[in-house]
Amino acid sequence: MSFTSMGISPSIIHTLKTQNYKNPYPIQKEAIPAILNKEDVLGIAKTGSGKTASYVIPVLMNLQGQSIKKNRHVNVLVLVPTRELAVQVNDVFKIFEETLPEKIKTLAVFGGASINPQMKALVNVNILVATPGRLLELVELNAVHLSEVQTLVLDEADKMLNAGFKKEMDRIFEILPAARQNLLFSATLNDDIASMKQLFLHDPLVIKIESEEDDIELIDQVAYMVSEEKKGPLLRHLINSREMKQVLIFTSSAARADRVADKLRKNGIDAKAIHRKKTQGVRTDLLTKFKYGKLRVLVATDLLSRGIDIEFLPYVINYELPRSPKTYIHRIGRTGRAEATGEAISLITPEEEHHFRVIENKIKKRIERIKIDGYS
Ligand code: AMP
Repeated sequence: MSFTSMGISPSIIHTLKTQNYKNPYPIQKEAIPAILNKEDVLGIAKTGSGKTASYVIPVLMNLQGQSIKKNRHVNVLVLVPTRELAVQVNDVFKIFEETLPEKIKTLAVFGGASINPQMKALVNVNILVATPGRLLELVELNAVHLSEVQTLVLDEADKMLNAGFKKEMDRIFEILPAARQNLLFSATLNDDIASMKQLFLHDPLVIKIESEEDDIELIDQVAYMVSEEKKGPLLRHLINSREMKQVLIFTSSAARADRVADKLRKNGIDAKAIHRKKTQGVRTDLLTKFKYGKLRVLVATDLLSRGIDIEFLPYVINYELPRSPKTYIHRIGRTGRAEATGEAISLITPEEEHHFRVIENKIKKRIERIKIDGYS
């Protein structure tokens, strides 16, 4: 099935060409026609599968031809768990909006940035991409109204519906009109599908492309056995000897991310840390630089393990293992995305060996162990 045969409008076909999207990805083949048909969709597909475009395209098409211009009443609400993802989703909307015959305005709002410019920008917005906390602040201030929302999108739905956001999400569901189209997308849904279905008025179309657990074949995974005090030297050795040009490193805390980045810089490797303690401006700037190859090493906490799309990222290094196997999968899923191959390297101390086996059992894969003389 081609994009054209799916009934996609010429202006969007034009953008697909300029973006070099030749054929629809599997999630797009199923989700786009259903969303155009105003059905509810529960899409289980990892980030990197093309899920953003699978809702952006039909949502924009559905808004064409409707003259909805009630000020400060948005028509589509996209909820995301992080500021980074808000910016990223907003960017995809902007790309596809450009050629539309009828102007559509999308805005991203998120905490950690000043609220006033967001309030001002909320004039004649059709599509609002928001993190829950900031959305509620704006609702309280009467800067935005949700009574006209026709379509609700939950990106990273499992995260949006878990305990961390529960209070905010409950409040948002109270305000939203009951009759609306619900589009839920998530990389991992495991056993929660039944409870998610309660959100839907009608039975949703469930699209399960492949779970991230099943789809890590494209990623080469290796583990280096190392003593705690040799982790830093081994990291530098790997980056230098393998001439890594773009590498995302995960650590377990913001303080550790800072230390690892400092140490790399002291040793002449261009590296910066990114975590919740950095301002939003700095985070966006670092991510952009890293994405476009202007920063060699980004040292991150799990803030970046979900949902961030960096095209063709060749290396992910677990400087420290994450607590849960699920997070391991999300982390390494930052490489080997959408048909590109990548390598995920874990640095394992003897103390971490047991935990690493738990992860291996969960992903049902034995990962090759490597020892380098002088580092273990
Ligand atoms: P996502 O899963 O939405 O994060 O998308 C992953 C990446 O795939 C993004 O860089 C998109 O630009 C790209 N992409 C999405 N759909 C297609 C397509 N049909 N053809 C080529 N690239 C695509």
